[in-house]
Amino acid sequence: MEEVSESALNGNGHTSTTDTEENDEVQIKSMFPLPVPETILRDIIQKSKDFALMNGAAMRSKAKFNQDSLNFAPFVLFPSSFPRIQFEKSCEVQTVLNELMHKVAHDKEFLDSTLADTVRVDLFTRKLYEIYETCYEEGFTQPLSLGLLRSDVMLEGKKCEDEAKCKGQCYCFCRKQVEINTIASGFGHLGPVSRTIHKFIMKELGFGSEKMIKNLPENDALRLICQGIVKAWELYGREESCVLFLVEDVAYNICDQRFHEFYIREHYPHVKVLRKTLTEMHSQAKLGVNKELLVKSDEVSVVYFRAGYEPGHYHTHNEWKARLLIERSRAIKSPSIQYHLAGTKKVQQALAQPNALQRFLKDEEKIAAVQEIFTGLYGLENNEAGNAAFERALKDPEKFVLKPQREGGMNNVYGQEIAEVLQRMTLFERQAWILMDKINPPVTKGYIIRPGGLPIPPIIDLVAELGIFGVVIGDHDTIHVNYQAGHMLRSKISTANEGGVATGLGALDSPYLI
Ligand code: ADP
Ligand code: MG
Ligand code: MG
Repeated sequence: MEEVSESALNGNGHTSTTDTEENDEVQIKSMFPLPVPETILRDIIQKSKDFALMNGAAMRSKAKFNQDSLNFAPFVLFPSSFPRIQFEKSCEVQTVLNELMHKVAHDKEFLDSTLADTVRVDLFTRKLYEIYETCYEEGFTQPLSLGLLRSDVMLEGKKCEDEAKCKGQCYCFCRKQVEINTIASGFGHLGPVSRTIHKFIMKELGFGSEKMIKNLPENDALRLICQGIVKAWELYGREESCVLFLVEDVAYNICDQRFHEFYIREHYPHVKVLRKTLTEMHSQAKLGVNKELLVKSDEVSVVYFRAGYEPGHYHTHNEWKARLLIERSRAIKSPSIQYHLAGTKKVQQALAQPNALQRFLKDEEKIAAVQEIFTGLYGLENNEAGNAAFERALKDPEKFVLKPQREGGMNNVYGQEIAEVLQRMTLFERQAWILMDKINPPVTKGYIIRPGGLPIPPIIDLVAELGIFGVVIGDHDTIHVNYQAGHMLRSKISTANEGGVATGLGALDSPYLI
């Protein structure tokens, strides 16, 4: 096999501009020589596709659904360059974000005032909120919540200010938070396995030196997330109780879910795992005399939600009844209803307002570390600030993203359409949305390998989104467990607005630290 020469690499870790410099696009250089010669490319693509499938980097096809078969998940051939310092800072700030979200979830006054307008207009958030109110008034049966969070960030670059040192060749990068997920934060398996694929590809193509592999940071997300679930199971304190994965009717992202389940079964064989939909929960679950969550004869100590985050998961009133039943129960929920509400876009927007963090964090350093990753977020209420944001969005829609209170991708509005959508809304309807500054991540070049894709895919411009996992367990007054739990990276073609892997436009990636 022909070798791709390692000497072709730019190993100095600096990023540089190319011919697109005129249009102000910030580029981050791939550390791997492109293009890969055709014969090598053909061979490595077939090999790495098989490797991905055989390591469970796979999903069920939406287009050709078959319960009995899998497609590999789209992946980027080479890991994307990511500035080491920004990666490390992202990991470091996670325990602060965990603490913040835990405190937000337990601050009724804050949730009430922040979501008051939203719940009047947005039916889905209102239904969640009603469950919260009911449980609050009755008194939470289970004081502990299990947070399995994922904070997503994109880089943004600007020309380095120290021109003399960098000779105009390098960029200063900062991180901007896209969102923080408190429900169904996926990729605990697909994150680590992306690193495994990239390590394999690098070795196959002659980039497997210890020095290079060391630039792929270790990723223990699966183990650490499962440890969090099992820790909650332990805190519940009933040997015979089980963990319940609450799932959609049809799970396309099946590997990611099942690897969690199988990890728990392999490493903690005494912990039984059930998989149920909300519909099944409605017909099979009930509360015991001490509000235990009983599914037939099994007592559930931990409910891990991989569904329930979008209206479509609640087909009828029955699924809402099932959600209420779960929330009322003694089981530890990930997320509890208050954690679910704390993860709404509206709460993210409220936290980005001046001095909002001071309510939850006392340490100035922690406040600064979180504030640093917030980008401009604006409410759209009928008040001075909301109307000003509305006017700015009409004038310059390309600078913003318009977001409803939804999860799971493909719900946001971009570009010119923002102006159209906003103008069609009444003042009342606007309150269901928030406006966010559009983040402009640096572009890198690479190949995306897709099921059914071209044998020789083109080199395209890619942008990446880094997700950092966090585990937090605590009650109203105390945090018992708080740690960072690995990471995941997704890339998408730079022209796409959204790049969810499950929704089809994104691809698995992993960071190559520079
Ligand atoms: P969801 O909860 O549906 O995942 P997100 O807020 O993560 O909602 O938005 C979905 C996707 O839209 C993100 O993964 C990202 O690709 C894109 N996106 C969201 N906010 C921004 C932003 N401010 N700037 C640029 N892209 C964004
Ligand atoms: Mg989300
Ligand atoms: Mg997202």
